[in-house]
Amino acid sequence: MRCPECQIAVAGGTTCPACHQPVPERETFGGQGAYYLRVLLGVSAVVVALFFTLSILGWGWGRTVYRFTVSQWRWLYLALIALPIGIGIYNWVEMHNDEITVTDEYIERRSRWGVQRLAWRDVKGFHSHSIVPRRSWLWRTFAVKRWLSREYLMWHLPWQSYELVGPPDAKGGDLVILLEPGTIDEFPWLLSLINERIGEPEEG
Ligand SMILES: [Zn+2]
Repeated sequence: MRCPECQIAVAGGTTCPACHQPVPERETFGGQGAYYLRVLLGVSAVVVALFFTLSILGWGWGRTVYRFTVSQWRWLYLALIALPIGIGIYNWVEMHNDEITVTDEYIERRSRWGVQRLAWRDVKGFHSHSIVPRRSWLWRTFAVKRWLSREYLMWHLPWQSYELVGPPDAKGGDLVILLEPGTIDEFPWLLSLINERIGEPEEG
């Protein structure tokens, strides 16, 4: 593991020789689904508030509600309100169970697809990929996630995803743990713990 203060390698569960702080035996990283849901519900609430404030200033409440129901724009308004909520719920469903655990021996991902555990000594490859092609649906939803992610405000994350490749699993395919910035809490710290164990990723 690594001392969060001094950024030096320290065995998990022991005390850092430099700052004498205890270094945890394991670190756990959650998904950011609940965070996106809150942000997007906030976006919807702002749209609703703006719409009604602007309307009330002009027409009064009763007339506003009436005009809204007859307005040809009502579907647009409803979409503006419902879309963020929908995306938020989708992200939450996708990510709320995600959890990554790192120890000196292994990295483990729990998600709705099950549990993947990969011992560091079994890692066959560690790759980084640019998030391309830029016009793909994946890229666009990813761009939104990245922009919304807390990390973006504090660290400038690379436009890269990371892939840890392990030995073949029971089904015969390689075990692959995919890590995308913007979907996991404290992504830079997670990356630095991985670098500590297996070094820098290969590009491509
Ligand atoms: Zn320290």
